[in-house]
Amino acid sequence: MDTKLGDLPNADVHVRNGALIAVGPKLAAPGAEEIDGRNRIALPGFVDTHFHLWGSFARGIVADGDFDYFPVMSRLGPVMTPEDAYASAKLGIAEAINSGLTTIHDWSHNIISGAYADADLRALRDCGIRARFSYGFSRNLQLKPNETTDFNDIARVKREWFGSSNDGLLTMGFASRGAGDTPPEVYRKEWESARSLGLPITQHAGRSLGEIKRFRRIEMLYKDKLLGPDVQLIHTYSASAEERAMIAETKSHVSIAPFTASRLASGLPYLGDLLKRGVQCSLSVDTTTVGGNADMFSIMRLMLQLNHLRSMDVMEVQPRRILELATIDGARDLGIADRVGSLTPGKRADLILVRTNDLNVAPFGNPALLLVQQAQPYNVDTVVIDGRILKHKGELVAIDAEEVIRKAAESFTAARQRAGGPY
Ligand SMILES: [Zn+2]
Repeated sequence: MDTKLGDLPNADVHVRNGALIAVGPKLAAPGAEEIDGRNRIALPGFVDTHFHLWGSFARGIVADGDFDYFPVMSRLGPVMTPEDAYASAKLGIAEAINSGLTTIHDWSHNIISGAYADADLRALRDCGIRARFSYGFSRNLQLKPNETTDFNDIARVKREWFGSSNDGLLTMGFASRGAGDTPPEVYRKEWESARSLGLPITQHAGRSLGEIKRFRRIEMLYKDKLLGPDVQLIHTYSASAEERAMIAETKSHVSIAPFTASRLASGLPYLGDLLKRGVQCSLSVDTTTVGGNADMFSIMRLMLQLNHLRSMDVMEVQPRRILELATIDGARDLGIADRVGSLTPGKRADLILVRTNDLNVAPFGNPALLLVQQAQPYNVDTVVIDGRILKHKGELVAIDAEEVIRKAAESFTAARQRAGGPY
């Protein structure tokens, strides 16, 4: 993903103190611990740009009819405790790391009080993943559109967790309910408050045909002169050609979640069209309750195929371009491309090794094809974040997966009971 270095068929990657020191053939690194990369592709870890971690423990019950995503989460969310949020987030993060994601964007919209924001941040910190944490709202606040988000607590979280620096593993943003769901005086004030704190803004927009019958959010934000390069719009499947031009003109970003787009019949993403317009695009999990897994391999594959159907042109977007979206473009979207997203000397060491000699991928040919069209999390051999080895030889080595699963299951059972079933 480093355009200058390109693909190296046989090379070493030298990591020291969490940084990439050198990438190239036959490197000398006396005294360094050696990891055998034969029959492995070394690539930057995957970057997700929109993931509702708090709901991770509920994927077992979100199905059809009355138990679809929105009704289920509307009942579960309000009865969750901060401990449930911690356990559920940890499940999502552990799965993400195991699957080769080294950065995620925690789109936190079950913040009933500040303790819930702290719970998510503790889970992110305890697991050692790189993340943007976007402070959002809660179901309660969604039902009170005239109330603004608690910016006193947002300022507290920024102060306590981020201090004056923004260069650690965690960065912060603001997740907005936004135009249409809140009156102009509320969302305008919220966006102004977020910007005064220097927080980038993330916003769902154009998710469904139902939404655009009620309002056209992108158009509303554009007319309000609120869009810009610090804004990430999620979905945009139902955006009109005019709205897509507005996104491009304002240099707003777009995060596409192909699994929720298709599973919730939201619409076909306009990926190729947006890329032609020069829009900064990236890929996201959204929620494992709907998408099933935090699996960037599947997300890339489905994204490619949905674009084939949208454009009816299999040449419009190619596997290598999809791989960029899942790595360097995700890092650009989150404003951390100077640190991660490519194996470039000087950047932080977020990298993964993917096996090329397993039954489902062998024999090895083109790396982009292997990664986008064949590989699965099962093929992820090693995961390194900021120079720390979190998965090695196919096993999580810094997270107790069994304990994470047990605690998430306990929390899930208790929360379901508090929600009044089903048990
Ligand atoms: Zn979402």
